[in-house]
Amino acid sequence: MNQLVRCTHCDEIFLKTPFDQWPEYDSFSNRPPESFRSIERDDFQDFLKNHRGHRLEELQIIDDSFVSEKAYSEPVKISYFKATNGKKTFVIKRFREKINESLRYQLIAGNYALKCIGIEIQSKEIRRQLNVEFKTNPFQQNQIDAFLELFQHIAKNIDIEKLERIPEESSNSLNIYYKMDDTSLIYLLRNCRNIFKGQEYLNFEEFIHRHNDNGVLLLKAIYKIQITEMAKSKKRVIAQQIRSEKRKVAAKGQP
Ligand SMILES: [Zn+2]
Repeated sequence: MNQLVRCTHCDEIFLKTPFDQWPEYDSFSNRPPESFRSIERDDFQDFLKNHRGHRLEELQIIDDSFVSEKAYSEPVKISYFKATNGKKTFVIKRFREKINESLRYQLIAGNYALKCIGIEIQSKEIRRQLNVEFKTNPFQQNQIDAFLELFQHIAKNIDIEKLERIPEESSNSLNIYYKMDDTSLIYLLRNCRNIFKGQEYLNFEEFIHRHNDNGVLLLKAIYKIQITEMAKSKKRVIAQQIRSEKRKVAAKGQP
């Protein structure tokens, strides 16, 4: 069980994992295996030593608050998540600079939000799917290009706030998939009549309906992490100002 601990005095964070109690084995290739050294490693003991006499509290990690700038599988990256002591919510930055470093945790004075920076269509996946489904009677390349251009145009002008989010397993917390709204779908189908004729149109319309809800026609919104408001440093600045004002007043009061 992972346990997140905060020192209320220093505002430092430690994530206690089962790994902290595991001994670390250090092998030397030029020595026989029986001389493996076992190093007792207990990072949490170090944390306790550094914060002796300080009040420590346990924080609960808030579900689904985790965001990261890169894919989950990427080892070197910065991530953020939120945790609470029951009264106050904290924002925690998790990072490492090199692959062989252990993860570090830091309290952030401020907050983060996700900001949509663009909506993409899944062009590559759409082409691939069309190739698979219409192997024997393929559409012409210029028809597919025209469709992708039309779809791209619709995606560019769509209001992401009004779309239904598809809770799909994404490998990256900054890529979120959405289903096109009905108005956009009708507009898309109507304009497809200019690209495809007769039976071709009917085939393509079926293709669109097959993949609109949960397939290659989902729109991919790209988000970025926006760090906002450094509330704590502001407070510090105000505290400093008050101190200097007090000094000024005290100086004036002297003869
Ligand atoms: Zn401390």
